[in-house]
Formats: sequence, C-alpha cells, structure tokens
Amino acid sequence: MKSPLEAPEKQIAEETSTKSAGRTDSSRRTAGEPEKPSASVIDTSRMSKGQREALELAEASRDPLDDRGSFASNLFIGRYDFGRIYPFPEQSAEDRAAGDPFLQKLETYLRDHVDPDEIDRTGEIPPENFAGLAEIGAFGIKVPKQYGGLGLSQSNYGRAAVLLGSWDGNVAALVSAHQSIGVAQPLLLFGTEEQKRKYLPRVAGGEISAFALTETHAGSDPATMSLRAEPTPDGSEFVLNGEKLWCTNGVKAGVLVVMARTPPKMVNGKERKQITAFIVDVATPGLEITYRCRFMGLRALYNAVVKFTDVRVPRENIISKEGAGLKVALTTLNTGRLTLPAACVGVSKRLLEISRKWAGERIQWGVPIGKHAAIAGKIAEMAGDVFAMEAMTFLTSSLLDRKSGDLRIETAMCKMWATEMTWRIADEAMQVRGGRGYETAASLAGRGEPPISVERFLRDCRVNMIFEGSSEIMRLFIAREALDPHLKVGGAIFNTQLPMSERVKAVFSSGKFYAGWYPRQWLPGSAGKIDNLHPNLAKHVNYAARASKRLARGLFHAMARFGPKLDREQLLLSRFVGVATELFAISATCSFAQWKIDHSDPPQADREQGGAARDEVLSLAEYFCRSACLRIEHHFADTNNNVDRRGYELTQELLAGKHESLRRGMV
Ligand SMILES: Cc1cc2nc3c(=O)[nH]c(=O)nc-3n(C[C@H](O)[C@H](O)[C@H](O)COP(=O)(O)OP(=O)(O)OC[C@H]3O[C@@H](n4cnc5c(N)ncnc54)[C@H](O)[C@@H]3O)c2cc1C
Repeated sequence: MKSPLEAPEKQIAEETSTKSAGRTDSSRRTAGEPEKPSASVIDTSRMSKGQREALELAEASRDPLDDRGSFASNLFIGRYDFGRIYPFPEQSAEDRAAGDPFLQKLETYLRDHVDPDEIDRTGEIPPENFAGLAEIGAFGIKVPKQYGGLGLSQSNYGRAAVLLGSWDGNVAALVSAHQSIGVAQPLLLFGTEEQKRKYLPRVAGGEISAFALTETHAGSDPATMSLRAEPTPDGSEFVLNGEKLWCTNGVKAGVLVVMARTPPKMVNGKERKQITAFIVDVATPGLEITYRCRFMGLRALYNAVVKFTDVRVPRENIISKEGAGLKVALTTLNTGRLTLPAACVGVSKRLLEISRKWAGERIQWGVPIGKHAAIAGKIAEMAGDVFAMEAMTFLTSSLLDRKSGDLRIETAMCKMWATEMTWRIADEAMQVRGGRGYETAASLAGRGEPPISVERFLRDCRVNMIFEGSSEIMRLFIAREALDPHLKVGGAIFNTQLPMSERVKAVFSSGKFYAGWYPRQWLPGSAGKIDNLHPNLAKHVNYAARASKRLARGLFHAMARFGPKLDREQLLLSRFVGVATELFAISATCSFAQWKIDHSDPPQADREQGGAARDEVLSLAEYFCRSACLRIEHHFADTNNNVDRRGYELTQELLAGKHESLRRGMV
C-alpha cells in the first residue's frame, strides 16, 4: 500500500519525535524534570502581551500529538498513508444493530411530535418534547448503561445527529449542547467515578446540561477570561464571581460545566494563568440566569447570560484537576465537535432533496429548471458535497469508536469543512427555490403551497461556522498541529527565547532531518498498490498522494521564507489547511465509495443491477473528487499569487480611519 519512496513509519516517527530539538511536551517529562517554557518551540518574545498569554495558555493546555500522527496530520509532511483509512472502517453490524431501535424511535418521535416550523415561530420547544425526548433516551445517547444512558457509540450518536439535523436545528442544538459539550462528555473523558455516578444518571435522564466558557471579553481567546474562582481559606470550596455569555441550554439547565480562573501558578519564575473546569448545580445560591439571548436562527435556543455572585462550589466538583480547565475544554471539543458535521449531513441531505424535487418540478423557459446548466451545476455540487461530508464524518466517527489514535485534526477538518459546505448548500438551495426559498413556511402554507422552509434551515445553520471553534480558529488550530513536526525539528532555530547552544544544536539536528526528508518530497509519488480499489477512484487517491507531497514542500518553503513570522501569515496557512482538508475529503470519499460499491444492494456481483449501483456511486464520488481537485489547484495557485499583503495594509488603513468616502452616503 505504501510507496517504496516514502520513509518507513518508524523513521518518520523518530525523525519528528519529541526527542528532537525543541522538545517541550509536558506529558513526556519524567518525574522531577523541570517544566520548560510552555511554548519553547514557538518564539513568543516578539509578540504583544495579549498574544503571548493567549498562545502560552493554549500551548500549555495542548496535548502533544502522537508521534505517528493521524492520516490527516501526515498529509502535511507528505506522508500519504491511505491504508489507515482504507478499507473504509465500517460500523460493525453489531454496533449498527445496537443503535437501530433508538434511531427508529427518534425518527418516529421527530416526525410525529416535533413541529420545527412551530418551534421556530414561537421560539419555544414545548415541554412535552423535552419529556418525550428524555423518555426515548435522547439525552444520554453515549452515556454508558451503568450510568443510566443508552451506551451507544459515536457512530450511532452521529446517526442520531443526522436525523436531528435533517428535521429541526433547535432540537438538534438542545440535544447536542447537552451531551457533546455539556456535562456528559467532559465527565466521560475526565470525571472521577464519584462524579460520574452522581451526575451522569441525572443528565442521561433529561436534566439539561450546558457548557459555559464564553464571556463578553473572552470569545475565541479564553486567556482573557475573567470569571474567578477563589478557594476558601480551608481549600474545601471555591467561590465563583463573574458572568458567562451565550451559554446554550443555560435557560433550561440543571447543571453546568463552568470554566473559571483560579489563582495563577508560577512557572519558571513567571506567573501563568490557570483555568479550571467546575461542575456547578444551577440551584446553587448566587447563580442567576439574567438574560435569554435571541438570534437570527435557532430561535428556540435556550441560550443564557449566567451571573455568578459568591457561588460556592465544592472542590470535588473540579473536573480533572485545578488548572486543567482549558485542556478539559479543548479535549471535550476535540470529540464533541464531531456532532456538528453529523447534524450538517442531515441539514444538507434535506436541502439537497428539496432542491432536487423542485429542480425537476419547476418549469421555466419550457423545461424543468434542473435542465438549465446554471441550476444543474448547483445541484451536482450539493450532491457531491453531501456524499463527501457523510464519508468524512462517519469515517472519523468510526475511527473514534475504534480508538484509532489522535483524531483532533480529522474532527476539526470535519467541523470546519462540513459547516462551511452546509452554509453554501443552504445558500444554493435558496437560489434553486427562487422566491419560495426566501418565503417562510407559514406564508407558503397560507397561500396553499407546501410549507418548505429553506430560509429556516439557512438561518439555523449559519452559526455553525461560529460556535464550537469558529472557522478561522479551526484553521489556526489545524495549522498549529500541521506545523508541529516542523516546529519540533526546526522551531528551536528561530526561537530567541532559547539558549544559543540549544539553537545551534537544532540547526544540526534539523539539517540532518531535512537532508533526508526534503528531497523525498520531490520524488514522484503515488499511493502504491491498493487492493480492490476501482481504477476511477485509484486515480484520485494517487492524485491526493502526489498533492500531499506538494503540500509538504509548500509548507516547508513557507517556513523557510517566513521563519518564526509564519504564524502571522494566516491567509497563506489557511490555503495549506484548505488543501489538506480537501485531500482528506477526497481520500475519505474514495474509501467510502469503494465500501458502498462492495456493499451495494444488490451487490456488485449481480452484474446488471450491481453495475448500475456501482455507476451511481462512481458518478457521485468522481464528481466530488474533480471538484475538490479544482479547489486544491486554486489554493495552490493562490499561495504564489495573491493580494494578501495589500489587503492587510488596506484594512489597517480602514481601521486607522482612512477612506472616509466609503462612510459617506449612509443614513
Ligand atoms: C448561538 C450561539 C451559541 C453559543 N453557545 C455557546 C455555549 O454553549 N457555550 C459557550 O461557552 N459559548 C457559546 N457560544 C460562544 C461561541 O463559542 C463564540 O461566539 C465563539 O467562540 C466566537 O467568539 P466571539 O463570538 O466572541 O468572536 P470573537 O472571538 O470576538 O471573534 C470575532 C471574529 O474574529 C475571528 N478571530 C478571533 N480571533 C482570531 C485570531 N486569532 N485569528 C483570526 N481570526 C480570529 C473569529 O473567528 C471571528 O470571526 C455561542 C455563541 C452563539 C452565537
């Protein structure tokens, strides 16, 4: 499967391992070894105080990536290991069967008892829906049975999110915020047995939970968090004071996960901020829900401003340990944010179906609008994207279920790509439906047309690119992980905070590494021999293998050109992230397509009908891969030819108050 031209796994692991210069991973420190500066692979000396604090806190909370990396992380170092995702890691028949009864109940319940347009109109989810969803177990899907949940896998949870997304964004957000980021997920990852026994049965049974991280001045940058948790003199309790903003489910919640600042710690003579995660009962005296926020979409979101005045929380309610709050939040999100792409699969399937039907029914200029190339092009894009979104999301879910290593890059790519594609799909579906896309369901029904709510889906899905890590932050997060092998090997060279001896050592060790690695990135590459992959798919997989080397070279050239200032080149980095994400999408799509061909019903062996099923799968997968390939070429072209610098300068002029004419002529 692996090209003979590629370095063996062990070599890559050794060459990029933490043994190399600039090693900082705190988790690998031996007992008694002093803690090195948190971000010694990154030179923070020329950063502003705010930037440095944000970065140091993020670095201190970051778990090092496994040396073997993951399929997606390895794309950035030119290592294309299709064998890690092929054959498609299908959900086992047993696991599927375990989820089927619940999924059947959920589907029936949504269809019969949840009215999404009414929920959107009133801005309320009826109390009977809370009770009904609790009764079928929808609030404890992944919570193990011994704690009162259904004990289902990530894949089955993802299937539930598809159903929810395809029906109602408000209920999807309620259920997802409750268990993907609310109390269940961090407790499953970090909770003590006692905490699990106390809280999981409550939340699995339907007591709503929420996750409170954001504050007025702390959005993407948690280092600026101000909610304080001061220990009492005997240390048995913490007293919380401050305010949290935009806490989804806060209005209905019985229990919250709250991130708070605890007293700072001295690290290498410098004060380091500490963030700690607490489980907080909403009934605790001093905790108030002071405001319900309302939004463009998700109008029935129970989103709150939560005020804390001398709220006393026992020490045993700390999740993990004091100071580990950001790590708890980031790790929770690493898995938790996979629910959003699954819900996006549901939204996109619904919008594709609406568009497909309308494009066949609506006659204009003598033919159905789907016969006009401008509309046909939109629907083909939607179809390809839906197929790829499903492939990426369920591939990653399945790998998570198999505990196949560290998947933070895959989940971040799924979140970023699926939320952006879904927004594009919603926008195009509105265009396909024309005026009816913009009209509300109630208005359509009022004049006798089917109540199809494209505008509701469009309003509801927009926020997906903002919460649980905005698209910009996802790109930075992926870029940081992508640069990790290079930072470990060569980052120390540019780090003026390190002693000169260490920097000189890094020149030699990185020189040795790059002398072997760099020329390999120029050798022609392919994915090697892949058993039983249809030749039409193999073509795209081989393209991805070659493009991965091109990506690795491009990233290396950028590092050589910009050195420690590369982190400021956000637009350039975002193109590399864009290339890698599309390569992941192509690869997942091809693996998924082959699995579909092999499992088509009737199977491929049944010549005529099996052939038809195969051709359908190939048509979708090939369209997607070609389209993704064009986007990749576009990204590559833009790395060399862009207006980034000029655009940056223009914005600084605008921020400084210049170009006054642009502000004239408004009311
Ligand atoms: C409907 C809704 C529900 C929410 N639910 C929850 C919840 O349950 N719990 C919770 O804790 N929070 C929640 N949030 C908050 C959400 O997570 C934040 O909105 C998000 O983290 C972004 O923060 P911000 O809105 O303050 O934007 P800012 O951080 O102010 O960012 C503004 C813009 O600048 C960009 N940006 C910021 N920093 C950088 C950078 N370094 N480089 C490049 N670009 C940057 C951002 O991507 C964004 O586009 C919710 C928000 C909404 C709208």
